[in-house]
Amino acid sequence: MRDASERLAYQRELIAAAKRLGLPARGDIERSLIRHATETIRAWIAAHGKPKNLSDLLDKIATSFSVEIVEIHSDGDIAALLKRIPPTREPVLARLAAELDDATDAVILQRQNRADWEMPYLAVINCRGWHRSRRYFSKWHEVIHLLLDGRQLRFAFRKRAAKRKHPEEVLVDKIAGELAFHPDLFGPVFHAELEAAGRLTFDVVERVRAEIAPDASRESALYACVRHCPVPVFFLKARLLYKNSEKRQLDDLLSGLDDVHLPQPKLRVLSSSPNDAAAQLGIRFHENMQVPESSLVSQAFNGSEDRVEGQEPLEIWQTSSGGPIGHGRLYLEARRRGDEVWCLVHVNSEATSTRTLTGRNLGRQAGAGTDNPIRF
Ligand SMILES: [Zn+2]
Repeated sequence: MRDASERLAYQRELIAAAKRLGLPARGDIERSLIRHATETIRAWIAAHGKPKNLSDLLDKIATSFSVEIVEIHSDGDIAALLKRIPPTREPVLARLAAELDDATDAVILQRQNRADWEMPYLAVINCRGWHRSRRYFSKWHEVIHLLLDGRQLRFAFRKRAAKRKHPEEVLVDKIAGELAFHPDLFGPVFHAELEAAGRLTFDVVERVRAEIAPDASRESALYACVRHCPVPVFFLKARLLYKNSEKRQLDDLLSGLDDVHLPQPKLRVLSSSPNDAAAQLGIRFHENMQVPESSLVSQAFNGSEDRVEGQEPLEIWQTSSGGPIGHGRLYLEARRRGDEVWCLVHVNSEATSTRTLTGRNLGRQAGAGTDNPIRF
């Protein structure tokens, strides 16, 4: 969230959602909403039996929340849906073709005129073009709306924009991100694969995805594995980027003020996602920080090999003001993906941040990093 007014709007949304569900609107409300949603699904699994994977769980939960899910892969799919449920019978469907544009991931609506055997809610999922990789997540998102609204949608028609999100959409995304990898199904498979491999690798992510979350995107499965990993690990993305000052310089150049030195983009950190154990170490790979030329990340970007793995000292990662971001050893697995390098960074249990020397102790108190099973 970018600024204070957005954070405030989000906080208001959390309070409203907690009140609707009869949860206390105190403390870490986001966490208690996620816990409530996780428990709701857990109770469903206890009553109905364990589904074979997370896609199966999603289908069954959708049915239990009375939502019919329709995937739209082409204009032909919209035509078929409108033929089956004509707008003369369900007038709100007349808006569908126009509403399900390229800026929209999904639409959910409450049926006004349905046959007894038809579901009261209809979720229409945009699977065209770039929306396709998001479809698993989009379905969860629409189901979570019903869970948060108390099984009765507060709006007859709601669309999910892919960008520019209302605070309620941010909250639903957050919960969907956790439930799409429900710990009761995801956890056992993930931990078995992690133990067999000895550390989190891209292959582990792929095996876990195939086994338990076959419809999830590679990227969302990766974030889920990082989140569930008990030892400190970062998921870094790097690509050619400019420094902020260079961006301003380029803007000046474009407006014709100067044309002497053209800045060159360098390999920089695009995003850095630590899991809880890594965040507690206090080590931060800052957004936009330059990737050291001697790093394996640079090697994966520049070299002929698009997959590189091995150790490197944390000290080579320096902030622009000069100092290293920490001390210790890293184990990296880096893969080139198009213009980007994706990298899993393990931090050994003795690593410390130069920013907060207490980071390591904090990690120990929380039980992170004490018995790191990863040796390198
Ligand atoms: Zn939504």
